[in-house]
Amino acid sequence: DHPVALSGVDVTYPGGTRALAGVDLTVSEGEIFGVIGESGAGKSTLLGLLTGELTATSGTVRVLGQDPARLSPGDLRTLRRSLGVVFQGVHLLSNRTVRQNVALPLALEQGRPSRDERADHRERVAQALRFVGLDTRADAYPAQLSGGQRQRVGIARALVSRPRLLLCDEPTSSLDATTTDGVLALLREARERFGTTIVVVTHDLGVVRRVCDRVALFESGALREVLPVTGAVERE
Ligand code: ADP
Ligand code: ADP
Repeated sequence: DHPVALSGVDVTYPGGTRALAGVDLTVSEGEIFGVIGESGAGKSTLLGLLTGELTATSGTVRVLGQDPARLSPGDLRTLRRSLGVVFQGVHLLSNRTVRQNVALPLALEQGRPSRDERADHRERVAQALRFVGLDTRADAYPAQLSGGQRQRVGIARALVSRPRLLLCDEPTSSLDATTTDGVLALLREARERFGTTIVVVTHDLGVVRRVCDRVALFESGALREVLPVTGAVERE
């Protein structure tokens, strides 16, 4: 069962814009899958389908074996917890510490956590911060961090719930080359260590060349082609 499978998907917005048309697409377990295309090509719409924020006008969408559009609100919340999302521009809460920001997805889980669950959450947050190399900055506030560090906090927050599928929207836009390298290394490491399947929307072909196994090119809402990415010289 593929972590992501779209079949004959159309999305038409109210007003009539056809944002996606006839999209067939599968992403394999443990794959790092790039999505590229010009502004307006339908990339954000695709991500919206995968998170369940948008519903296809026709066709079928399956995310981790389920159709987000057909789930009850409770089951959709459960599905969303098995997804990690890394946003463009990160969106950290400025009045919360790094540790609190990373803990947010766990805090959103339903019900009042037991003492054991709270201990488990603390350990998961500590692990996630170690994973991104920011355990010494746990008590800092976002404004005290560099842009690259903030993006790493965003990745820790996305991974803290141990998602099987990680969705990244322009994860390196606005980062310099060195910081971009660090973020891409983390994506590769998440895949190597945890087998995380990763979908990366990017306009940066360098990102595609360095981390993606395959890339899908969207043009005006149509999936033009899916290509294997080869010759990754810089990969270990
Ligand atoms: P991309 O992320 O590749 O820039 P989008 O998925 O945002 O592309 O947009 C695809 C098309 O759908 C564009 O023509 C865009 O103007 C249109 N669109 C996006 N969101 C909406 C919306 N909420 N309502 C109407 N049209 C939209
Ligand atoms: P450490 O090596 O620091 O003891 P782990 O190897 O247990 O930590 O995990 C490090 C990071 O990996 C943390 O961000 C944790 O949330 C994340 N993680 C652990 N297991 C998984 C998983 N199955 N899927 C995704 N992320 C995971």
